[in-house]
Amino acid sequence: MRGHLERVRVEGGPSLALVPTMGALHEGHLSLVRIALGRSDLVAVSIFVNPMQFGPGEDFAKYPRDIESDLDLLSDEGVGIVFAPESDAELYHEGFCTSVACRSLVEDRLCGRFRPGHFEGVATVCTVLFMMFRPDIAVFGQKDAQQLALVRRIAKDLRLGVEVVAGPIVRETDGLAMSSRNRYLSAEERRQAPAIYRGLARAGELAAGGETRSRVLLEGARSVIEAGGDLIRLQYLELVDPMTMETMRELDREGLLAVAAHVGPTRLIDNALLTPAPR
Ligand code: AMP
Repeated sequence: MRGHLERVRVEGGPSLALVPTMGALHEGHLSLVRIALGRSDLVAVSIFVNPMQFGPGEDFAKYPRDIESDLDLLSDEGVGIVFAPESDAELYHEGFCTSVACRSLVEDRLCGRFRPGHFEGVATVCTVLFMMFRPDIAVFGQKDAQQLALVRRIAKDLRLGVEVVAGPIVRETDGLAMSSRNRYLSAEERRQAPAIYRGLARAGELAAGGETRSRVLLEGARSVIEAGGDLIRLQYLELVDPMTMETMRELDREGLLAVAAHVGPTRLIDNALLTPAPR
């Protein structure tokens, strides 16, 4: 891949965008592909279910894999380069033992609290991909807001020369954020799951009405989510600074309202950016 890219990438030559994914592609992924296509001459999509970012007892083995459908979808979009390693060794050669950690954005914050090692796996694989592709831009979804902040941070801290571009969250018509993991939901779980979005939307309405107290915004969201059904169990619901992930007590600037919840056995995440109402 590196050799191929070196041949097509000459000084002043085509620009390259990278869209890293774990496959089982849906409209959320394709929206990022379209952003990439609109901004770059060449678009590369990576499809790699990264073992390093799954903890023991998580869903690495059963994570949906559908490479044929993924390749069809990407070819319909006009993507020219797909990197879908068949073996982990194409990314992590034998003896690989380097890792990239970005502690302050992760430790004790949001998903970092519940998925030890997850973000180290994400930071490491993204760094390897960035070094391999050397893209001008990399497009990530706002859906994974903590991941987005982390990738922005490592790109900057390690001077990787890649601009990280964010794409908005793509939702189903009932508000549920698209996710490869939505495939795990039973019919009843799928019916209850949109309450997560409705809770975020409720907090958005409160903020638009002038509410700035974090406690009240969180309570508004929590009550709607919990009323969504008996299969939903909140894991966290927090208002944080979108860049630093630090807790915000007051919505005195843009804030990230982030949620993780189990719906049945499936863990889903979602978020909304809240802005204080103009005074
Ligand atoms: P994944 O395959 O889940 O690792 O996701 C690959 C990329 O797609 C990440 O940058 C995600 O944030 C992004 N993504 C996943 N779901 C959505 C969605 N519903 N809307 C926008 N981006 C998404």
